[in-house]
Amino acid sequence: MFGQMMNFPLTIGSLVDHAARFHSETEIVSVNTAGGVEMASWGSVGANAHRLGDALTKLGLAPQARCATIAWNNRRHLEIYFGVSGAGFVCHTINPRLFPEQLVYIINHAQDEVLFIDRTFIPLVKAIRDKLPGLKHIVLMEGRDEAAAAEIEGLEFYDELIATGSPDTAWPDFDENTASSLCYTSGTTGNPKGVLYSHRSTVLHSFASNSPDCIGFSARDVVLPVVPMFHVNAWGTPYACAMVGARMVMPGPGLDGPSLVDLIDTYKVNVALGVPTIWLGLLGAAEAKGSQLESLKRTVVGGSACPPSMITTFRDKYEVELIHAWGMTEMSPLGSTNQPLAKHSDLPLEDQYALRENQGRPPWGVDLKIVDADGVELPRDGVAQGDLMVRGHWILDSYFLSSREETLTDDWFHTGDVATLDADGFLSIKDRSKDIIKSGGEWISSVDLENIAIAHPALADAAVIGARHVKWDERPVLVAVAAEGQSPSETEVLSIFEGKIASWQVPDRVVFTDVLPRNATGKVLKRNLREEFGEVLIDP
Ligand code: AMP
Repeated sequence: MFGQMMNFPLTIGSLVDHAARFHSETEIVSVNTAGGVEMASWGSVGANAHRLGDALTKLGLAPQARCATIAWNNRRHLEIYFGVSGAGFVCHTINPRLFPEQLVYIINHAQDEVLFIDRTFIPLVKAIRDKLPGLKHIVLMEGRDEAAAAEIEGLEFYDELIATGSPDTAWPDFDENTASSLCYTSGTTGNPKGVLYSHRSTVLHSFASNSPDCIGFSARDVVLPVVPMFHVNAWGTPYACAMVGARMVMPGPGLDGPSLVDLIDTYKVNVALGVPTIWLGLLGAAEAKGSQLESLKRTVVGGSACPPSMITTFRDKYEVELIHAWGMTEMSPLGSTNQPLAKHSDLPLEDQYALRENQGRPPWGVDLKIVDADGVELPRDGVAQGDLMVRGHWILDSYFLSSREETLTDDWFHTGDVATLDADGFLSIKDRSKDIIKSGGEWISSVDLENIAIAHPALADAAVIGARHVKWDERPVLVAVAAEGQSPSETEVLSIFEGKIASWQVPDRVVFTDVLPRNATGKVLKRNLREEFGEVLIDP
């Protein structure tokens, strides 16, 4: 006998079992959709996850049946994450901000059989119910409520459903490559595409996110995932927190700045995760309320480029370290996080700060390269810009109900981002390839220009698009939203670029608008802006 190690499949059920067994009393704070805050624990979440898994099995669902959610970040949603996947079904989280036609498409395409909803979404689901013939159970994530029952025929209730299951039923055995969860990407064109995660990819992703150079949750943390559980599984936060038994604060429906400041101060949150627009709201509310966000030590920001001015405000005003992260739905989502290397501690402070602005470097498990238009790899010199390609343990192999050939290019996934990479793997995202501005053969990064513009005190929001130009093909135009009570002139706005970039990169014009159009995940819809303002340099 040569010898061998034990071989357990890497499964999501094992994560919640660990948390329930060894961190049983660690609190899960949850803001209810109907108002009020409830206290649960990893012990009770684990027990309810088993009850739910058993109850769903008793409903007669086949292995891998899709069970969808349209819900906020709360305790029951956490139980559904673990109960559905643990019992061998697929947890399909749906973004409620999508248009109703897209919701119908997604639910039917995924062949969802069960749909869990929060009460906020009763009208939404009621309006599309008759277009969802495959749906067998709609479950309100509460106790019995007769008024709600009158709204949707056959509505079931979560608390009653889990009461039919036992907390002592073991998870079934299955291979770690079994599908566990499903998210659709909200593309701006065409139908949304499904990304099917596996138990193995999710557990490996959790290990990586818990490494110290990534997010590094621990049993001593109080974690506030503001990033919704319907957006790439809240960046995997529930799984990674269960793995280490971190305390969690689930914010429910109130994602406005004042509500978040209250939660952070009341429950002593020290790590929070979300997209840049959420933190703009939080910083504004902290200022207005005079809160110092005393407990907060780290914020993780991703989803779109984080303006450097936000890093500075968190650091200098609140002593909060902002960790800039990059990823995609197709990557579970973690691709890179910005943490310094040992050699950087010798650099002058200003240089150390500058290094924290880009999207950081990949953890073990993610491989990155940049290529030119012919697919030839470009140097990792921090200068050459190219199409960013990725591969790794938690990166998509093929879209749901699609083939590998349709999804990958030479075994790599094409991110659609344009980036530079340096020798240490630090990644700087310059643009989506379709948004980069091609001016007379030179490329101008709209992200670089937006990062500068957003720091202008008279602006509340800013986006840069390539507008058609007779001589240069495209030139940058800044679409700006003035801050409340401000009405800066075009010259005042443009003055902020002076000395920060080459003069040929400065936008040709500033146009003002009331609000920037955004998609369901909060990204600016540049296509709409190009439709509205793309001709301003031709036909002023
Ligand atoms: P999604 O799949 O909806 O999460 O969108 C993924 C895309 O968001 C990426 O391909 C990037 O274009 C963009 N993105 C995510 N994080 C960042 C970041 N930190 N900086 C710039 N762009 C980002």
